[in-house]
Amino acid sequence: MTKTTPGIETLAVHAGTAPDPTTGARITPIYQTTAYVFKDADQAANRFALAEPGNIYGRITNPTQAVLEEKVAALEGGTAALATASGHAAEFLTFHTLMEAGENFVAGRQLYGGSINQFSNAFKSFDWQVRWADSEDPQSFEKQIDDKTRAIFIESFANPGGIVVDIEAIAKIAHAHGVPVIVDNTLATPYLLRPIEYGADIVIHSLTKFIGGHGNSMGGLLVDGGTFDWGKSGHYKKLTEPRPDYAGLVIYEATGNAAFATAARVLGMRDFGPTISPFNAFLILTGAETLPLRMQKHSDNALAVAQYLEKHEKVSWVNYAGLPDNKYHKLQQRYAPKGAGSVFTFGVKGGYEAGVKFASSLKLFSLLANIGDTRSLVIHPASTTHRQLTDSQKIAAGAGPDVVRLSIGIEDIKDIIGDIEQALNQI
Ligand SMILES: *Cc1c(COP(=O)(O)O)cnc(C)c1O
Repeated sequence: MTKTTPGIETLAVHAGTAPDPTTGARITPIYQTTAYVFKDADQAANRFALAEPGNIYGRITNPTQAVLEEKVAALEGGTAALATASGHAAEFLTFHTLMEAGENFVAGRQLYGGSINQFSNAFKSFDWQVRWADSEDPQSFEKQIDDKTRAIFIESFANPGGIVVDIEAIAKIAHAHGVPVIVDNTLATPYLLRPIEYGADIVIHSLTKFIGGHGNSMGGLLVDGGTFDWGKSGHYKKLTEPRPDYAGLVIYEATGNAAFATAARVLGMRDFGPTISPFNAFLILTGAETLPLRMQKHSDNALAVAQYLEKHEKVSWVNYAGLPDNKYHKLQQRYAPKGAGSVFTFGVKGGYEAGVKFASSLKLFSLLANIGDTRSLVIHPASTTHRQLTDSQKIAAGAGPDVVRLSIGIEDIKDIIGDIEQALNQI
């Protein structure tokens, strides 16, 4: 019998989720425990030394969490994963694993606002310096790389929505300089785009968004692509130097193509502790089973809304890569031909007042600061998330006075467009 790789719909349902080995329960139980009993002192000693795999304490591993990790690693085509309390925790642990004080990384400027804050403010305390490049211009990354650069960070579908990044071109540049590429794949998800196939070495997710998909749980995750040679440069000390805390073990020698995820767990997670709760892991696992169905519906609905808005007299522009005349359409067709995702921005004629009026007149849509829910969501950034910025800062951040951001849900498209129509009529 020839072995075929299961399709993504099959992986979403089955990857990681074998029946429970002790009870036969078909659905992965919520293992609501903090610690695990050792058979004897030898077993305990071996587990602490990483000489034998197995659970020790809930900060580091949990069986419900392990199933979620295996599922998302399979969906992304990676070798291992580490789930975390939030997307931000996954970003933090990723950089903690790669960086020492005084080193830098290059990030595309077009990012989730929270990531911009984390990189430019919180990381200062660790002396990890961020250098900004333009996600639309791969060459701009090369210009920022020097001998202290340890990674490149981009989003696949970049914020504030509508931008598709040329991962392959950026990965070529990164690898020519011996640094790994980290891709935040939150907006695209592995159903639409699998960054590792285009040269990404690490993929990170806010599971809070589409993978969980129902707006009920915070969670994050990093995927180890198993692709990067950590030993080559000697720059990634946490992976390549003997660990006194693990009896002299060298993590990349001991754990091979899962070295990055292992180090993030046994060093970063162990010492900082942003653990996902077993209950959240369970809810996100349930959500992940329907990821392919939901992402297709999100994308189909978003395309229909973009096409509707494009023709509307009160709309001045629509930035959705699924539209044939959009400047990212070619990249979308190449990287994510199944769809351009759920999140995009458009401009209302009449500026700030019109934006506020539109957002507050919607009835089916929820006005809130989130994306990736089954429900349709809206935000007017200039009056909410970006309120504190000056007008010119707002425009630079893609949050000008007329900008409205939509996260299109999986409701009946006629109800979604009906709601948008009545709200546009209020302007
Ligand atoms: C939400 C989000 C994050 C942060 O994730 P949290 O789960 O909110 O910590 C990171 N990147 C992107 C693209 C996001 O949308």
